Amino acid sequence: MTESDGPDGLPARRLLLVHAHPDDESINNGATMAKYAAEGAHVTLVTCTLGEEGEVVPPELAHLTSDRDNILGEHRIGELAAAMRELGVTDHRFLGGPGLYRDSGMMGAPQNERPDCFWQADLDEAAGHLVAVIREVRPQVMVAYDPNGGYGHPDHIQAHRVAMLAADLAAEPGFRPDLGAPHAIAKVYWNCVPRSAAEEGFARLRAAGSNTGFAGVASMADVPGVVDDDEATVAVDGSAYVGRKAAAMRAHATQIVVDGPFFALSNDLGQPLFAVEYYRMVRGHQPAGRAGDLFAGTEV
Ligand SMILES: [Zn+2]
Repeated sequence: MTESDGPDGLPARRLLLVHAHPDDESINNGATMAKYAAEGAHVTLVTCTLGEEGEVVPPELAHLTSDRDNILGEHRIGELAAAMRELGVTDHRFLGGPGLYRDSGMMGAPQNERPDCFWQADLDEAAGHLVAVIREVRPQVMVAYDPNGGYGHPDHIQAHRVAMLAADLAAEPGFRPDLGAPHAIAKVYWNCVPRSAAEEGFARLRAAGSNTGFAGVASMADVPGVVDDDEATVAVDGSAYVGRKAAAMRAHATQIVVDGPFFALSNDLGQPLFAVEYYRMVRGHQPAGRAGDLFAGTEV
């Protein structure tokens, strides 16, 4: 099903998500992406790096890492494509093309200093690549990270900066007219998890106890973007799509192990896998009360 009553033959509802590494989209927004894609909205994912510096969970793939064969980035292009098939999302791109910006590693790592890493990127240049996408797909809604990138990873912080700058520049007629007609994004959200939802998830996880196969349980600090409940403006109920979200997360097999309603990253500490995904609106008009739709209040 495709909506086709928007301008220039575009689907009526258009959602853009900006992420740092392959896997972030499925963990944060997998159910949301599957839901809107299934409903006929145009969903565009822009991923800023290939995640070359990630750790690898399966021992048989451990040779892919940057300190060994250094081909994890290429491998993760395939994982991301498989995840997008699970979510029904056909428009996924890498910022400026695959491999233009390299994963910067964790904050303080020597990889932060590499001239080709995303952390060292020229902001205007990186934003320009995103402006081209914004002016092409003309989204009403953009989802990005908060200024701390959710949890302080340099690529997540940089993805926030690039997304917010690009949203401004895309609307300015004077900026790079060669990149298309100006477009103002009606609503901008940052990913978040309300504290009570995170606490409830960890309570479920502790109750499951040794029934999960993980080495231990993560802490609240491991959940990106935890906010006070009243800051979570929109709750997208993705319950009908949580199976697709889990399948997409499994497609990122070097990064994630899924076990029922829980998952773990390379530290093997269990975290809740959220069926309801939350968003904090930072730009746009919001109808009263917590909405269930990212497009609420936009004229579509
Ligand atoms: Zn990431």
